Amino acid sequence: MTPTHHPITDHYPGSHGEYPEPAETTVSCACGAELWEWQEGYSCSPGSPEDAFAEHLTEVGA
Ligand SMILES: [Zn+2]
Repeated sequence: MTPTHHPITDHYPGSHGEYPEPAETTVSCACGAELWEWQEGYSCSPGSPEDAFAEHLTEVGA
């Protein structure tokens, strides 16, 4: 294997797996409430994490 001078190659998708992030995301509040989740190939919570968090803040009266 020959060393290269193209370190930016490391930033391309695929060089370290398909995605830099896990194919599963859960957004939860500091209080422990799960607000929003997404799983690749499965369902996704409606709206955006920001919306879910704003809604949660309203619910708890913060
Ligand atoms: Zn909370």
